[in-house]
Amino acid sequence: MGLTGIQIFKLLPKTNCKECGVPTCLAFAMNLAAGKAELASCPYVSEEAKALLSEASAPPIRPLAVGSGENVVKVGGETVLFRHEKTFVNKPGFAVLVSDTLPEAEATARLKRFKELKYERVGLTLRPEMVAVKNESGDAGKFETLVKKVKSETDAALILMSGSVEALTAAVKASADRVPLIYAATDGNSDALAALAKEHKCPLAIKADNLEDLSKLSDKLTAAGLKDLVLDSGSRTVRKAFEDQVFIRRAALIKKNRSLGFPTITFPCEMTKDPMKEALIASAFVAKYAGIVVLSDLHGESLFPLLVERLNIYTDPQRPMMMQQGIYPIGNPGENSPVLITTNFSLTYFIVSGEVESSRVPSWLLVMDTEGLSVLTAWAAGKFVGDAIGAFVKKSGITEKVKHRRIIIPGAVAAVSGDLEEELGAGWEVKIGPREAAHVTAYLKVNA
Ligand code: SF4
Repeated sequence: MGLTGIQIFKLLPKTNCKECGVPTCLAFAMNLAAGKAELASCPYVSEEAKALLSEASAPPIRPLAVGSGENVVKVGGETVLFRHEKTFVNKPGFAVLVSDTLPEAEATARLKRFKELKYERVGLTLRPEMVAVKNESGDAGKFETLVKKVKSETDAALILMSGSVEALTAAVKASADRVPLIYAATDGNSDALAALAKEHKCPLAIKADNLEDLSKLSDKLTAAGLKDLVLDSGSRTVRKAFEDQVFIRRAALIKKNRSLGFPTITFPCEMTKDPMKEALIASAFVAKYAGIVVLSDLHGESLFPLLVERLNIYTDPQRPMMMQQGIYPIGNPGENSPVLITTNFSLTYFIVSGEVESSRVPSWLLVMDTEGLSVLTAWAAGKFVGDAIGAFVKKSGITEKVKHRRIIIPGAVAAVSGDLEEELGAGWEVKIGPREAAHVTAYLKVNA
């Protein structure tokens, strides 16, 4: 259990200096107890108090990382039950299962799909990040060979699954630089796997038949010095597994139960044989509250919706999704191609750029930073008005890419054209494009 606000308050300097951003030490203590503040915000806490407060100030669900390099998967670190309270922190990792009993060709095909199924959306690359390598053959050598194959052919963060300590030891040694997740310590093998995880500084998944036993195992391993644990409640029916996810999150956040204050791993792949049902189950765990979701295979028609769902749920609801300001060429444009300008609200960008692509008229799309506001909202807020747009166009570098001096503004912002022409100066022509961004295709076909 974490400390209460009053217990934390007793350890603070009690000067009410306000440097932490709240008016009193008591308010800071209450925020710290609720996981809404960080201890580092108070520069005057003594070292002794820091040590005592570190537990209370830690996120209620421990953040940890699986993998290394660019494709490291961070999980945990969550502080709220619902995303409208505050953003969720670390999106769940998607893993594809590859067993050492699969025919070589099928294993290779799954890894190929793992590498190829990537999607660009709102300026981000959406993709699965993990491969769960499973030792079903019982052959440690076969398992190690498959782990090496996955490691050499992909950049995946690895989950090493075996019931054999010997097989896991060899596989961890072969992939320790990838910081794999070792799966799974149980009551019977926890001492050996704890030693393996400690030796190689790898996170360790723990599995039990129920939450009570899982808590006991977590306490035992925490007492042994392990910090990076991932919980598997052992449930393989949808209803029970879902209940467990909610129970674990609520216990960690509301009851401040440190035994269950770790990210979880879920296995939709073991709950059905129907691929579409599996995707539906996975989608429930994305929303509540998996740290890792293991899928039996990857198919675009089910993976893409899951990736988009994950993106939407783990996007900060208080900040609009934005594109980078800049020049976006569409369809290999040249020096006579039309130039359009719009705001950097992601949805606006994707509607306009999609329309330009559909028109098949190669074009330059200027995206202006309006702090993520859409065209009309930005115009109303004074961020997408003639002089601001003119200043951006002049410094954007577009004049080095085109010979003409015409610019098209899709959207109902006719009011900006006069100011914009004045700002840009003689020789420039401002065309107000179609009123609706969705009519850009037709506009370009006729006017470009
Ligand atoms: Fe109190 Fe520290 Fe905040 Fe100052 S910075 S008000 S001492 S908690």
